[in-house]
Amino acid sequence: MIDISIVIPIYNEALNINLLYERLTKVLLSMGVSYELIFVNDGSKDNSISLLKFLAAKHQEVKYIDLSRNFGHQIAVSAGLDKTTGKRVVIIDADLQDPPELIADLYAKMNEGYEVVYAKRKRRKGESFLKLLTAKLFYRILSNITSIHIPVDTGDFRLMDSKVVEALRQMPERHKFLRGQISWVGYRQTFIAYERDERHAGKTGYTYRKMFRFALDGITAFSNFPIKLVTVMGFLVSIVAFLMIIYTFYVKYFTNQDVERGWASLMVAILFLGGVQLISIGILGEYISRINTDVRKRPLYFIKESNI
Ligand code: UDP
Ligand code: MG
Repeated sequence: MIDISIVIPIYNEALNINLLYERLTKVLLSMGVSYELIFVNDGSKDNSISLLKFLAAKHQEVKYIDLSRNFGHQIAVSAGLDKTTGKRVVIIDADLQDPPELIADLYAKMNEGYEVVYAKRKRRKGESFLKLLTAKLFYRILSNITSIHIPVDTGDFRLMDSKVVEALRQMPERHKFLRGQISWVGYRQTFIAYERDERHAGKTGYTYRKMFRFALDGITAFSNFPIKLVTVMGFLVSIVAFLMIIYTFYVKYFTNQDVERGWASLMVAILFLGGVQLISIGILGEYISRINTDVRKRPLYFIKESNI
């Protein structure tokens, strides 16, 4: 059995692959471990796959999986995890935002007796204010509404024992939120703090739209808080409505005031109720759409070609 498998999702990373390979190889050789590099090409539109094939032809530790189309980052990583054979497994981004050199530290930390060592971002360089803000906010909200402990400011860059990888393979959900699943499986987990670098070249594959989807996947997979919130909102609105009914009757039968003049309050009430109802239906919809995908039980991904 080899010591470490490295799983690297690739989406349009042609400008990063060679440098990534060099830096990974350097640190892994210096650690004196046996290793394999599993590159998962997630339907790249550039020439990433030919670079990978070229590397694989030259170096036997390089493995590639070419997916049939773009399935998204989390599924690409899952495809890689399905094929790892190492005693320990690293997930790392291809754009060199996760410094490969940190793998040596993660490895040393794990020797102190952990099954998961994740890399926690102290600072992130070169990312837009909005991305930093939304990421920060998201991780805070998530950790407040879930019962499990999902570490804040942590991506998927981490080292795991093969036991944890085996556990992940048994989790069949289609909407993957790996960092949550890894927290959920338990075992002894710890972290190392690091400075997140800028993307070396190319541009991010995560649009705000994808990020939003991803955030909803995380929340719906690990929390029923939004649905419970709907119930709470329902009760609150009902209480207010009940008081309004009593008040309306009171005005009509016990005062000389003209009830018909309540145009503004009527308008406010209708719009408010409409808003609450639509939001509630939307929240239910987010859960139901995920149930829908899970129920279909389609395979997570298809492999076009692979050398594993
Ligand atoms: N990625 C992928 N499929 C996608 C989008 C991204 O496999 O649809 C890979 C990408 O090549 C990189 C990692 O996932 O290795 C992280 O993506 P990116 O750097 O674009 O995200 P960011 O760091 O901006 O959140
Ligand atoms: Mg990146």
